[in-house]
Amino acid sequence: LLRLEDVTVRFGTHTALDAVDLEVTEHEIVCVLGPSGSGKSTLLRIVAGLQSADSGRVLLSGTDQAGVPVHRRGVGLMFQDHQLFPQRDVGGNVTFGLRMHGVARAEQERRVAQLLEMVGLPGAQRRAIASLSGGEQQRVALARALAPEPRLLMLDEPLGQLDRGLRERLVVELRGLFGRLGTTVLAVTHDQGEAFALADRVVVMREGRIAQAGTPLEVWQKPADAFVARFLGFDN
Ligand code: ATP
Ligand code: MG
Repeated sequence: LLRLEDVTVRFGTHTALDAVDLEVTEHEIVCVLGPSGSGKSTLLRIVAGLQSADSGRVLLSGTDQAGVPVHRRGVGLMFQDHQLFPQRDVGGNVTFGLRMHGVARAEQERRVAQLLEMVGLPGAQRRAIASLSGGEQQRVALARALAPEPRLLMLDEPLGQLDRGLRERLVVELRGLFGRLGTTVLAVTHDQGEAFALADRVVVMREGRIAQAGTPLEVWQKPADAFVARFLGFDN
């Protein structure tokens, strides 16, 4: 579904992504781990089209995305600071992207009801954003990202602001939800517990390169090098 070929991104003299190759297949959940500044968010921004690569190619369903604008890529994005619209209610937030995509009103309402049910907030359409807890807001942001039915859902620290207990619960729920929907997911986290619980495959980044990619078990049992071993060890 997604393929990065030899992607390099520079900011001045700093190389944020250094000849990265990565493939994500349909229905796969891939989690990107790595220290701060290793290029995780840059990777997502490149795939979304929020930033362009200095060299290399990004392909979605086999098509080179060079010059394809963000809203034409069929990807959903959710950032850590989920930026819900505080002046709109829950329903208004979830339908925001649908209106842009020209989805008919009845269909919008049907999808919102279904999505809110899926994220565990059934019937919350008319609630004010300010009346929701952090975890509930995070679920609304997730419903909003899922609403246009993206072929690829990208999450950047989606549970970053939540406390550990809630995070652990949400990770399990998300995994079930993505499985039921068949969603392909590329998620960034610096929490390895989260990555290992959510992912089919884990990608560990270091200084703009992929230090290791493999199933959680492979990475855990056989770290590719001292860096990966140390990185995994730190958070334990
Ligand atoms: P974190 O875990 O802190 O979010 P990250 O792995 O997401 O880190 P990136 O945001 O991808 O890291 O940044 C990779 C490197 O590129 C960092 O050194 C960062 O300072 C640099 N960088 C990112 N965006 C820009 C920019 N717009 N201009 C200049 N440098 C940038
Ligand atoms: Mg980041």
